[in-house]
Amino acid sequence: MTTRRPLVAANWKMNGRLASLRPLVAEIRAGVEGCRAEVALCVPFPYLGEVGSKLAGSAIELGAQNVSEHESGAFTGEVSAAMLRDYNCRFAVVGHSERRTLYGESDALVAAKFVHAIRSGLTAILCVGESLAERESGQTEEVVARQLDTVIKTAGVEQFSQAVVAYEPVWAIGTGRTATAEQAQEVHAFIRLRIARHDDDVADGLRIIYGGSVKGGNAKEIFAMADVDGGLIGGASLNGAEFVQICRAA
Ligand code: PEP
Repeated sequence: MTTRRPLVAANWKMNGRLASLRPLVAEIRAGVEGCRAEVALCVPFPYLGEVGSKLAGSAIELGAQNVSEHESGAFTGEVSAAMLRDYNCRFAVVGHSERRTLYGESDALVAAKFVHAIRSGLTAILCVGESLAERESGQTEEVVARQLDTVIKTAGVEQFSQAVVAYEPVWAIGTGRTATAEQAQEVHAFIRLRIARHDDDVADGLRIIYGGSVKGGNAKEIFAMADVDGGLIGGASLNGAEFVQICRAA
């Protein structure tokens, strides 16, 4: 079995301003020094340059929260993977539930973004997860399988060796309601099995991270589960001390 290095990725969403983000980056940089986990900051597009320069010489990776499915051209307001590479981005989040629900991103569009990100040398962080209604009606596996299968079919399973999957139950994002460690493990194991149906080695090496109201106080228990390889952290990543605590828990 492969030993998977945990990943803790911050998703700042559309929060903060340069003045507040500068000290946050400095606090995180100092706090995660020597951490076993890989740490990444997925920041708003306009701040990639500034945050990237503040991370120079550290092991912290830079990431974006979205990426276009196109290479270049007349797509006003969009940002390509190549542009992200120009800023030394290593990661791009694709299919975050806020993009799926608020901006109508379909499974097919998410799959196209995934392909484009990977083709350009980024590591895609593919978000999947069910809504509360879907969980309560027993459809969690069906929904996650559908989201995953579209990407496998479009990209090919081999591409998952350059990807991370984030299981983010929609009902746990920004709500303060976290999945229990057992609920997370159950879905993470399901995701790994789904990938293993196509390729055992890819499944074994794939990092599957959990997102949804992870805090300093609950990270350790969730990250201790066999198939949980770190976390995607929203709200708590805007608090330096708390985010560092989460990174250290991984
Ligand atoms: C997220 O937006 O990816 C997320 C996990 O948010 P939060 O940690 O705030 O629930």
